Amino acid sequence: MMMMGSQYEESLRKLDLTVYLFGERVLNVVDHPMIRPSMNAVALTYDLAHLPEYAEIMTATSHLTGRAINRFTHIHQSAEDLVKKSKMGRLLGSLTGCCFQRCVGMDALNALSITTHDIDARLGTDYNRRFLKYLEYVQERDLTCDGAMTDPKGDRSLPPHAQADPDLYLRVVERGKDGIVVRGAKVHQTGAVNSHEIIVMPTVAMREADRDYAVAFALPSDTRGITYIIGRQSCDTRKLEGETFDRGNLSFGGHEALVIFDDVFVPWERVFLCGEYEFAGPLVEQFASYHRQSYACKVGVGDVLIGAAQTAAEYNGIEKAAHIRDKIVEMNHLNETLFCGCIACAAEGHRETSGTWMVDTLLANVHKQNVTRFPYEIARLAQDIAGGLLVTLPSEKDLKAPETGRWLEKYCKGRTDVPTEHRMRILRLIENLTLGAAAVGYLTESMHGAGSPQTQRVMIARGVNMKAKQAAAKRLCGISEE
Ligand code: SF4
Ligand code: FE
Repeated sequence: MMMMGSQYEESLRKLDLTVYLFGERVLNVVDHPMIRPSMNAVALTYDLAHLPEYAEIMTATSHLTGRAINRFTHIHQSAEDLVKKSKMGRLLGSLTGCCFQRCVGMDALNALSITTHDIDARLGTDYNRRFLKYLEYVQERDLTCDGAMTDPKGDRSLPPHAQADPDLYLRVVERGKDGIVVRGAKVHQTGAVNSHEIIVMPTVAMREADRDYAVAFALPSDTRGITYIIGRQSCDTRKLEGETFDRGNLSFGGHEALVIFDDVFVPWERVFLCGEYEFAGPLVEQFASYHRQSYACKVGVGDVLIGAAQTAAEYNGIEKAAHIRDKIVEMNHLNETLFCGCIACAAEGHRETSGTWMVDTLLANVHKQNVTRFPYEIARLAQDIAGGLLVTLPSEKDLKAPETGRWLEKYCKGRTDVPTEHRMRILRLIENLTLGAAAVGYLTESMHGAGSPQTQRVMIARGVNMKAKQAAAKRLCGISEE
């Protein structure tokens, strides 16, 4: 059954999560003003799936049951599925203007569908059956899964087993008849407290000495022993100021959390990798490639920012100036170049032996490398067009107060036919996207999400066929080394 946004919200209310923010336990997570905008964004992934005009992009047919499911729980069955996934990311980015969080779980499910199959084929294990049973559980209930990969990592020069504190990478501390006990933490967990499930994977390739760290599993998010500590975002307390338009984005936002696993029990049925260290690397690469494709979301957020910059230009009466028009073209050029990358890696996808369709790894890494750069340039141009008022603008309260309001009405006005309040609202949105809470998603997350820039450069160096390029060059100029 595909849930509506309202049903999703109600299902979150039934969870008994251990969440902390500002040093205090948050008992009502769903209605907390700093968390609720992120819940709203995930809720949209549910509501859109029920609208006929988005059905093609937002829903898919389960390869397990043949039933219609939300695409966020689907295992890609063709290159067309992968292309639709990219389009879904852009669509949701443009409708929320923020990170809508649900892609990490989708990417974890797809990566595990490949890896569990490959481990079984090589070692005769039983992981794929367990995984498919779990997948059906997720698809039938239309659950949101948090994909948890990044460990705290401690001293980056040391492998997991050599850290002074052995818990700096999540590990198995006990193996029993019924299951395993795990200890450690996952950092930067996007959408963690909006999720029904948390799917844990290793974060680096591993050797035999790290076998206790080679573990993948899924747990209900409110399992005993899991604690969530919500991260701060730039300007996040604006959300505590009530309904003010100083928030920039009135309804949506993202959140990240530090998630701690303090000796948590996982039944064997929910364990998908345990000790097969040689498969940690492939699982990381598959998840990372899928998630690098998922950064189609930033194209949608870029659409919002470009629209805001054009609007700000019009409110200032400068939209016809040649240099403004050229800057808008430049922003669109960069944004559509990003779109080319996420469509290309999808269209060039291939079928794995498990039947799952995988993106082209080289192109997915090239796409994500572009994402680490272009949004910064688009944001720079948006700030250029918006002008300095972007950061010196008084608050909505000053606009509404009788003493100051008349001065703001008079001196913050742009074009005569545009209400001053409209001009203030669009500037606040640009602030939100380039400096405020949403800049976490549009800029820093573009830099570090799905792996920092250097990880993509390593994959690009590994992925290109340098020998073929050299042979092509040598052939044309008559070098023969036979
Ligand atoms: Fe999805 Fe983008 Fe958020 Fe990652 S940053 S979870 S890809 S919306
Ligand atoms: Fe992300």
